[in-house]
Amino acid sequence: MKITEHLQNSKKTLFSFEILPPLKGKRIDDIFEGIDPLMEFNPPFINVTYHREEYVYKKFPNDLLKKISIRKRPGTVGICAAIMNKYDIDAVPHLICGGFSVEETENALIDLQFLGIDNVLALRGDAINGESTFKPEENGHRYAVDLITQISDMNKGKLLHEESQHSAKSLFCIGTAGYPEKHYESMSMKTDLTYLKHKVDAGADYITTQMFFDNKKYFDFVDRCRAIGINVPIIPGLKPITKLRHIAFLPKTFYVDFPDELADALVKCKTDAEVNKVGIKWAIKQSQELVDANAPCIHFYTMGKSESVKAIATEVFGK
Ligand code: FAD
Repeated sequence: MKITEHLQNSKKTLFSFEILPPLKGKRIDDIFEGIDPLMEFNPPFINVTYHREEYVYKKFPNDLLKKISIRKRPGTVGICAAIMNKYDIDAVPHLICGGFSVEETENALIDLQFLGIDNVLALRGDAINGESTFKPEENGHRYAVDLITQISDMNKGKLLHEESQHSAKSLFCIGTAGYPEKHYESMSMKTDLTYLKHKVDAGADYITTQMFFDNKKYFDFVDRCRAIGINVPIIPGLKPITKLRHIAFLPKTFYVDFPDELADALVKCKTDAEVNKVGIKWAIKQSQELVDANAPCIHFYTMGKSESVKAIATEVFGK
């Protein structure tokens, strides 16, 4: 079922979450062990991230050091199929521009269709290590809007080569990313929102936001979107802070700020356990406020850990 249908059919705020494929060589059971404790909160869908290849240096015989490219977390599509099979709910694979030619994108979408996957979160992806800025594949997409256009064309039955028409119509519900604190490459919030509008005009059916820790930023973002005619559902994304290292890692990696009240509480923490307590309390407060404001769904970034999300969901969705 399409995400937009899940949202339309529900009178209350839904609960969903994102998982990462396991590191290459790890078991899929590790993924299920992360999902199982969250199933009692009835997620209608689970997102699965996509991870591109990275460059690493590997030692070969005779001390030869070679730069090779590997994918550390393959398996996005397989995990989606396994989730749908095991839990009978929707899985939303993330699909990125980076590393794909348009032809490969088309073939990947055909695989998704054959697996019965109805939703895709369409993203650009980031530069990989060794690149200063994002570089599209030869004959690949430069921006998410181009990927969305391709999926949207396919939804209308149009394939890349004119002689082939797709028999099925309206295959995918398309999600896109939005940034309540602006995408880090954007000159201004206004330009970022203009490009977000292009993505929606190209066919994105809903927006999932980057994590944020200050609800005011989300509410302002929604207001600014509505003011320029972005009328699709905007799903807030939340990440519980659970470790001391998150305090520096999250703002640095995701270009997000902690509000003063949260930062003041975190600065006093000396152990992971103390951070975890503050982080969960904060996320409960954020979630409760978002539910009260009728957010369509709250989407949690689990990053492979479900305990903190379970604690939050128990308070907010468990009653
Ligand atoms: P775009 O919408 O293409 O925007 C990228 C930048 O270009 C922005 O600054 C935008 O303002 C600008 N821009 C857009 N269109 C134009 C244009 N026509 N001309 C000039 N500038 C333009 N990454 C992964 O690799 N795998 C994942 O699974 C993944 N999941 C994510 C899930 C969510 C909910 C979010 C928020 C992010 C995720 N990311 C993931 C990270 C994402 O790939 C990066 O944030 C990436 O840098 C931007 O992706 P985008 O789709 O927002 O790109």
